[in-house]
Amino acid sequence: MKTTKVTRSQIRKIYRHAKPDDHKGTRGHALIIGGSYGKIGAICLSAEAALRSGCGLVTAFIPECGYEIVQVSIPEAMVITDKDKDSITSIKFPIKPQAIGIGPGMGQEAWTKKAFYNFMKTNDFPLVIDADGLNILASAKKYKDLLKPGTILTPHPKELERLIGKWETEKEKFVMATVFANQHNVIIVMKGAPTCIISGAEVFQNATGNPALATAGSGDVLTGIITSLLAQSYRPIDAAILGVYLQGLTADIALPETGTESFTASDIIQNLGKAFI
Ligand code: AMP
Ligand code: MG
Repeated sequence: MKTTKVTRSQIRKIYRHAKPDDHKGTRGHALIIGGSYGKIGAICLSAEAALRSGCGLVTAFIPECGYEIVQVSIPEAMVITDKDKDSITSIKFPIKPQAIGIGPGMGQEAWTKKAFYNFMKTNDFPLVIDADGLNILASAKKYKDLLKPGTILTPHPKELERLIGKWETEKEKFVMATVFANQHNVIIVMKGAPTCIISGAEVFQNATGNPALATAGSGDVLTGIITSLLAQSYRPIDAAILGVYLQGLTADIALPETGTESFTASDIIQNLGKAFI
């Protein structure tokens, strides 16, 4: 296992400026799937973070109950609704996004699980799985047919434990996560302090961020950022490294103004522009 600390110069090499002749059709279309009754806010945070991270178009796929909420709170986003009012029951969309983020606020109803598995079996778009997407994945009998190479998983410690099992020591956690990442050819964004990104035998340790990020919705914002970068055709590993770095740097920049206690996930969204260099 080789551990590399992510540096500013590495980030500068990954980051690409928008081209002068770009238009919204060339900057990538991100689709964010999730939400359920009482948890539509997770999708609002993810979709807005995606819009603030450079992709040209964002569509949210949500249950019916979230339609007005998303349309009113994020006028820039397009919305496709499930036929069910309160939760996702069937994931079908008449668009061709460049990347998909799935899971925030999605819930784990039996019909949502079924819809998730069906989606995973047929999906060929670059993918970020977070939150309930990870929890549902963890309850699958086998991951083999579900996880496509290059998929990005963004678990917090509890979600990681559900996926890879309990660990005794930090070292064991890294070994178990690396084995999982290799077995399934996926990238694991192990969220925490610091967040570490695992790909193959490599571990990239993030250097930005602070405890202000330990707040509701922070992870949903990260999913939006990484999905947006993926939609802009960054390589999955670069989207993961850059997304984590930008989320942390934003929190570092915003902290003097917000303070740790008053910092909310919306502050990441409001300040993201200061982190893009
Ligand atoms: P979630 O638990 O899914 O909302 O994700 C939390 C997000 O906040 C992740 O991106 C974590 O890396 C970040 N985070 C949480 N606590 C800390 C901390 N103490 N220091 C730095 N980042 C943190
Ligand atoms: Mg989360």
